[in-house]
Amino acid sequence: MAFIVYGGAETAPAYSRRTALCSRIGSRSRLSGAPRRARRASVAQLLRMSDDWNTLGAKWSKERADPVEVMDKALESFGKDAAIAFSGAEDVVLIEYAQRTGRPFRVFALETGRLHAETLRYYAEVEKHYGIRIEYCYGDAGEVEALVNEKGLFSFYEDGHQECCRVRKVRPLRKKLGTLKAWITGQRKDQSPGTRTEVPMCQVDPAFRGANDSDLIKFNPLANTSSADVWSMIRIVEIPYNPLHLRGFTSIGCEPCTKPVLPNQHEREGRWWWEEATQKECGLHKGNISQDAVALERADNDLRDKIASSSIVMFSKSGCPFCEEVRQIFTKLAVPYTEYKVEDSPDLIAALERLTKQSTVPNVFIQKRHLGTAENMKRMYADGELAKILNEAGLKLSSVA
Ligand code: SF4
Repeated sequence: MAFIVYGGAETAPAYSRRTALCSRIGSRSRLSGAPRRARRASVAQLLRMSDDWNTLGAKWSKERADPVEVMDKALESFGKDAAIAFSGAEDVVLIEYAQRTGRPFRVFALETGRLHAETLRYYAEVEKHYGIRIEYCYGDAGEVEALVNEKGLFSFYEDGHQECCRVRKVRPLRKKLGTLKAWITGQRKDQSPGTRTEVPMCQVDPAFRGANDSDLIKFNPLANTSSADVWSMIRIVEIPYNPLHLRGFTSIGCEPCTKPVLPNQHEREGRWWWEEATQKECGLHKGNISQDAVALERADNDLRDKIASSSIVMFSKSGCPFCEEVRQIFTKLAVPYTEYKVEDSPDLIAALERLTKQSTVPNVFIQKRHLGTAENMKRMYADGELAKILNEAGLKLSSVA
């Protein structure tokens, strides 16, 4: 196949989008000859400009650098200390780009135990196609077992996906990244309106640390690439793709948390569709979440910490007669409880509303289980259900009226 000579980042603006894409799909073999020389010059120039990865990332992003250049730079700089994070979706082009550099590369994937069978078969197909072995990362068996046995297999539909993602994705990822100095992701700016608008092509990872607690460099070669360009690449080069795409799935994750989207629906609407757009990250790319989303997440984490701070937790307002009714119930039952006043904390009120879909106080949790309004508490107290719940939670009642 013929090569189109492409000068890399510096010449990118002079090329049409289509030309740049064609330059990247010109050959399956290692870059060589004129394009190779052009690429080397480009990398050297970039290095002279800055050794600082954040600065380099900003420059690459501004100039819409060639993703192959970025991939090559990552592999050249970090070798076996870098690995590509492969999700089994359209980010397969990262593997194609890595192969085009002619450099050895590593690929890892998070095997959450909840992936579609099609995705697992697709992993095997990709391994065969590229002659690679994907390194699979699994969640800690004890943690997965504890979560499922305590809250069931589908708790994420009730209280959000963060906890399950933390166990099945974020912790295994953190463990893997703790063995690396750089990782290469398929994050794109156009993937999520709420959370990925600030993805640079390269950065010091603001969320994770690398081997021996070193800075971890995160490369996002596709940051400026559109979904349309990714798919042009997949089709023209005949890269294998996940068959779920043929059934309307666009952004593919775990089976219970992914659904097909309709024409013109945004791809992320098929992920965690029961949650707000700004909550649609699983923690893998926390550092690229916009500041508003960071504030939301911080408030939610603060709420979770409060709920977990003692066996019985009540969120209340001063002078609220309904909160007083619940206080009296706990006094009658003679059980200790922790109370948080919400009136001075709009963030806490908003986080409570997001979690419980209840905009009033009191909000009561017993061992993280939400018990709802004062009306509900009074009913449960009257029919003995509350005493039963407290007993089951191992809380000794000295007086059950
Ligand atoms: S995507 Fe869904 S099933 Fe997968 S780890 Fe997250 S919450 Fe759990």
